[in-house]
Amino acid sequence: MTSKVCLVSYHEIALKGKNRRRFEDALLKNLRCALETFELNRLERFQGRILCVPAREDDAQAVAERAALVPGVARVAVAWRCARSDEAFAEAAVQALAASEPFTTFKVHGKKSNTDYAGHTLDINRSVGAALCAAFPEKKVRMHDPDVTITVNVVGGEAYVYGAGRRGAGGLPVGTAGKVVSLLSSGFDSPVASWMVGRRGACVCPVHFSGRPVTSDESEWLCQDILAALKPYGLAGRLYVVPFGEVQRTMALEGPPDLRVILYRRAMLAIAERIAEIEGAKALVTGESLGQVASQTLDNIRATNDAVRTLPVLRPLIGSDKVEIIERARQIGTYDISSEKAPDCCTLFMPRRPETHARLETVRRAWDALEPETLIDEALAGLEYVDVEGCPSYKPPRGLAEHHGSLAPATWRSRDA
Ligand code: ATP
Ligand code: MG
Repeated sequence: MTSKVCLVSYHEIALKGKNRRRFEDALLKNLRCALETFELNRLERFQGRILCVPAREDDAQAVAERAALVPGVARVAVAWRCARSDEAFAEAAVQALAASEPFTTFKVHGKKSNTDYAGHTLDINRSVGAALCAAFPEKKVRMHDPDVTITVNVVGGEAYVYGAGRRGAGGLPVGTAGKVVSLLSSGFDSPVASWMVGRRGACVCPVHFSGRPVTSDESEWLCQDILAALKPYGLAGRLYVVPFGEVQRTMALEGPPDLRVILYRRAMLAIAERIAEIEGAKALVTGESLGQVASQTLDNIRATNDAVRTLPVLRPLIGSDKVEIIERARQIGTYDISSEKAPDCCTLFMPRRPETHARLETVRRAWDALEPETLIDEALAGLEYVDVEGCPSYKPPRGLAEHHGSLAPATWRSRDA
């Protein structure tokens, strides 16, 4: 009798020495949440991996696919659990190899861990190898660098038989790196940037600057859809929305036209930093890529970054080309949503000839003349938020009310309403 289970591996966590337990606990918590739609009999540490036993065997494949998306997961294999006998090993190995198609070459790797099994692993290799050659006569055994290795791991009183399985998201479990505030537009770049820092263990609080009340709230719906698409990765906590249209109007009326975009960006970063203080986040994140648009030349990045007081600004896409970013957006499922056009604050009051190489001193003078602290306070007074489901490591800040008396959960219409 064989039964199907999932084995989740996480090699990078293994490098973390004494922290290993904390990383494993975070991964288990995140996996439990990601797999909540499946009924599971077991989800626990097992031989340097995580063993996941779905109540319904037929779920094993879907569970593996779902688990592979969770940051921190290096690989997931469906494994056939069987009794300790040559016949049982062979039966399970035939199923594991059949599931590994397409392939041309294979080998068998027998292993024993914590078991009183008397047989030798070389004998396992030989007998299982012979059974597989008989079942797959057109395939070839290859000892060096085969397409598939079928592992027969005898553990305690039973054995687990599996092929390579699928590659996981990699990286580290969400929550193990602390919290960041990520500036999320509905474009292609910032969802990818958010995913990238989430994959490195950050719990992400997205903040979106809406052109409301000057534009519609369409971009806010797109952001919500983006976060729904990112839900399988379990990386996003509370979404903050800043109605930013009035701030931009003031800046457009009172600031020099060629510096407008830089001034908007400074205000965004300064406001995001204040939200990060509320949230206890340790960095800001943007989807900027060097030279992508006028506001992302080195001079202009310097002129915008200058508005941030203490936090580091992470730019995971700084060296990426648009083609690579779009490829990643397709892979993580945000591409179609980002393809939709919605007026957001970026489309508002755009100058005809934006400065591409702003001088820091000129920008600082223009900024100070706007009395930015008042503008920032006004924008923060209108701050709204909505909680995103599926991020178990997100802890809402205590004392939110002390920071912002008027802050209230947004009651947004659904996009389809
Ligand atoms: P994206 O970069 O996400 O594709 P975009 O191209 O419209 O959006 P850029 O002009 O490239 O935006 O802006 C650079 C970065 O500034 C974005 O990646 C994002 O982090 C931040 N940003 C821009 N607009 C907004 C916004 N409306 N709300 C929140 N962050 C924004
Ligand atoms: Mg961009």
